[in-house]
Amino acid sequence: MEGNLIKLSEEFLQELWEEIEEMGMSVKDLRRCIQCGRCAATCPMALAGLDYFIKKIVHASILGLKEIFLEDSSIWGCQSCNRCVEICPMDIKPYELILALRRMCMRNYAMPSSTIDSLRNYYEKGHSVITAGYEERRRKLGLPEVPPTVLSNEEMRKKFQEVIKQTALAEVAPFPLD
Ligand code: SF4
Ligand code: SF4
Repeated sequence: MEGNLIKLSEEFLQELWEEIEEMGMSVKDLRRCIQCGRCAATCPMALAGLDYFIKKIVHASILGLKEIFLEDSSIWGCQSCNRCVEICPMDIKPYELILALRRMCMRNYAMPSSTIDSLRNYYEKGHSVITAGYEERRRKLGLPEVPPTVLSNEEMRKKFQEVIKQTALAEVAPFPLD
């Protein structure tokens, strides 16, 4: 941002269009948004009071307001509930847009530190939710201290990491996948 002006980024728009097209959507699809607000009415991001909830995100994407996505962390508050996709009368698939924007932000190293921690935990331990520190609570509940997932099977954990290295995360991860 400079003064009261917000830069429109042609480069950002081009990148976003390419991301969207890779997912089988087109720019025309996004521009069909009529800003009816149905997505926002059902979105947990809006209910949580995030500044840029889904209706605004769709609008800002169409306008190419890159700085909003790099400086504001609202897109990372999406809960992946898919309600916006189900309720949109124009079949715009706002959730898919959120995923495209997240990938773009990751390439620009613009994401909350909690997201980086979750990603690292996911790669290293197979869980995006941090599991360390909950051993005692699990034991009290009669659960194994370590969940019976790849976390408790070293061979499977290594195989899991090899699979992850074949995904888009290898391209955009903000830490080495070694
Ligand atoms: S529900 Fe669809 S058309 Fe309505 S504001 Fe949201 S994205 Fe746009
Ligand atoms: S998928 Fe994300 S953007 Fe869509 S309604 Fe759920 S929280 Fe909101």
